[in-house]
Amino acid sequence: MMKVLLSNVVNGCRVGSITEVGRHGNRVLEFPGCLLYTRSGSAPHLTHDVLQKLDSLPVGVQLTLPTLAEQHNIVKDFQHGIGKFTGMEDFFLYCSVQDPAVREATGYNFNKGVSVWGSGGRIKLEVADFMSIQKAFCPDWYQCLCDGDTVSSDTSNKRVRKSVDRTLNFLDKCLEIHQESQELKGSEILGVIEGGDLLEERLRSARETCKRPVAGFVLDGFQSFAMERETRKNLLKAVLEVLPEDKPRIIHAVSRPDEVLEAVECGVDFFDSSFPYQVTERGCALVFPFSKKSDVCEETMIQSSEHASKETTENQQCQGSNEGTQSQKTEFEMELNNRQKYAQDFRPVLPCCSCYCCQNHSRAYIHHLLQTGELLARVLLMMHNFHHYFGFFTAIRESLHQGTFQELKAIVTQRTK
Ligand SMILES: [Zn+2]
Repeated sequence: MMKVLLSNVVNGCRVGSITEVGRHGNRVLEFPGCLLYTRSGSAPHLTHDVLQKLDSLPVGVQLTLPTLAEQHNIVKDFQHGIGKFTGMEDFFLYCSVQDPAVREATGYNFNKGVSVWGSGGRIKLEVADFMSIQKAFCPDWYQCLCDGDTVSSDTSNKRVRKSVDRTLNFLDKCLEIHQESQELKGSEILGVIEGGDLLEERLRSARETCKRPVAGFVLDGFQSFAMERETRKNLLKAVLEVLPEDKPRIIHAVSRPDEVLEAVECGVDFFDSSFPYQVTERGCALVFPFSKKSDVCEETMIQSSEHASKETTENQQCQGSNEGTQSQKTEFEMELNNRQKYAQDFRPVLPCCSCYCCQNHSRAYIHHLLQTGELLARVLLMMHNFHHYFGFFTAIRESLHQGTFQELKAIVTQRTK
């Protein structure tokens, strides 16, 4: 049986581990932690071999239905689950309903189900379809079908209430099928807290979900663009107070370093790693400091935050409705497409970094690869960005054990004010 071991709670921050978890029964998930972001069941741009070279690689992997639902009949015929199908069976697999890197289209959910968007377009998932996908995939954890379509600013209170009701209704129906399923014996279902930005609906959603036999909770609808930071903080604090301490709490699409630290302070345990992926896709590298030793990194940080990149913003606006949740360059990254700055800069991306990219290549080389449209640019950037992001989570856990979390927060957020 899954056990949540809380080794410390400091000013609301939870640090600890979950043991005896998953179908293998011998996995340990440390928190606060992140899940490896994947597309179509593999880490973006990286083969399994390359992935294994990364330091602090998370044990947990996040699979998403938009990139996988279309293939579910093939996986069903394959009969050995999504882990074996994608060559990721060594990992702990968590399947989420939506892709945290993609802003979902609004207005397409319905009373009996929700829509996800695959490469071939809209996929309508009713409870039975959804559960047959989970039976084919056999993940360790899966997020219950949910209606999280409350993030646009013109969502009415009535619509928010409906999202809570629908989500609870989906949960009860999914639980019924789950409990009778042989295929899902080793899997566990996570309840989803909805309620938009209405405190009473958030609390109702939390209290009702707690009454069901779920293994943990997903905090949905807290995306960066969905609400003000202060609102998110207050809602998270209120909701997490209601949830039992011995079950994990996962949040999606809240993955910027400063937002992560804030959510950790509210008591969130797990995050997705869509942020380093989005940084990679715009040709950027993460350079934010998270330790006192990184003097050189800080210098890089100042340089990169000096120019707010207007070009990136303009380019991103042309991409239409399928844009990422965080398509604009942030102050945590360096834009290697910048010719003036990096075409002749022969230093590593981050001089203090021990990743493959920084150990072997220069900024000028990455710039050249980006300019010539070589796929290797994204491979190397993905390696560095994952390495940096995973290292950040290791630093968070260490700081909580050592009582230096506030110092870490000051180092990370010094350029964002
Ligand atoms: Zn690096």
